Amino acid sequence: MKVLAILYNGFKAAKAEPRLLGTVENELGLRAYLESQGHEYIVTSSKEGPDSDFQKHIADTDILITTPFHPGYLTKELMAKAKNLKVCVTAGVGSDHVDLNAAVERKIQVLEVSGSNVVSVAEQVMMSILLLVRNFVPAHEQAISGNWQVSDIARNAFDLEGKVVGTLGAGRIGYRVLQRLVPFNTKELLYFDYKGLPKEAEQAVGARRVEDLKEFVSQCDVVTVNAPLHEGTKGLINKDLLQHFKPGAWLVNTARGAICNADDVAAAVKSGQLRGYAGDVWNVQPAPADHPWRSMRNPLGGGNGMTPHYSGTTLDAQTRYAEGTKQILQNYFEGKPQDPGNVIVGVGEWLPDQKCLEVLMIRCW
Ligand code: NAP
Repeated sequence: MKVLAILYNGFKAAKAEPRLLGTVENELGLRAYLESQGHEYIVTSSKEGPDSDFQKHIADTDILITTPFHPGYLTKELMAKAKNLKVCVTAGVGSDHVDLNAAVERKIQVLEVSGSNVVSVAEQVMMSILLLVRNFVPAHEQAISGNWQVSDIARNAFDLEGKVVGTLGAGRIGYRVLQRLVPFNTKELLYFDYKGLPKEAEQAVGARRVEDLKEFVSQCDVVTVNAPLHEGTKGLINKDLLQHFKPGAWLVNTARGAICNADDVAAAVKSGQLRGYAGDVWNVQPAPADHPWRSMRNPLGGGNGMTPHYSGTTLDAQTRYAEGTKQILQNYFEGKPQDPGNVIVGVGEWLPDQKCLEVLMIRCW
């Protein structure tokens, strides 16, 4: 079979650090395995436009491997050209770069390594909440630029203790964030999700479900977004919803950039309506140099905690998603069933409700 992987270039770093498995250079550690099984393995970072390796090779590829960090966007049109394509594997979590409706129609399975980087992201969420609330970035900028003006930093620095923190999406990552927030003695932990958590899971973290989204955001000092990108979440956080946030709230989004309207968020930070915004995901990746999230600042010069998309690609996470990708391939080649938690689209079907329940059960409590 022909296996095509779209990965990001690691250049010198990847040569020096073999654990950077998700790079073109280190090929998810799959070459020896795939070639020993008689498969052809093409690895490239070239993914944009009709002359890209992605668009050239997709025509006769059987299995496509992509990552959310350097997404190869598999549109409906591109899928129509992919005559042999049977399986798309996301090395990581979040398969919104694949047109999932078209995958159902064309009976192409979509699998991801669920859970592989959920701890990595939950830790990033904690870091992002703290750096916003404590006004870390302007303080660090003073440290490295030779300045020392404590009042300029302290006038917009707060404690997390006593604040209301809410997660939009209480799945694998959102729940882990709630768990990690418990020792911070917040005033309250809230969540907004389609489904309520099992009672014992809710009680273990002392979280309260709010069923109306506007009501939810209006009660939070900090909102963290941990829901997938789909038709119901694209642009969900926009000018209209931002008006329902507490004035001066903080917003953290490590889920997907397109869940937020980029211009509306930048304007809210600029006006101080949001005290800050942090995250590692962007609506276009790599983000253009003039993306508004690169330069936005609140009226007191802080409130920007953006980074490139890396929270789910720590070296620990790369080991897990490389191993998980190999396991998915092995299951496929050997005709074994896939872990139900890894199935986003089965053969010609959305994840059935039955499996959703199973997915719920294998979450972290
Ligand atoms: P998960 O276990 O599937 O949890 C997501 C939760 O959000 C589910 O409970 C889901 O409910 C819920 N949800 C869906 N739409 C919602 C909406 N409109 N409002 C409220 N809740 C909603 O996924 P996860 O592992 O926690 O990952 C969450 C997302 O994080 C991924 O989809 C991915 O986009 C992102 N992520 C980012 C990185 C990174 O490196 N930055 C790494 C990993 C993941 P249902 O199950 O009923 O749909």
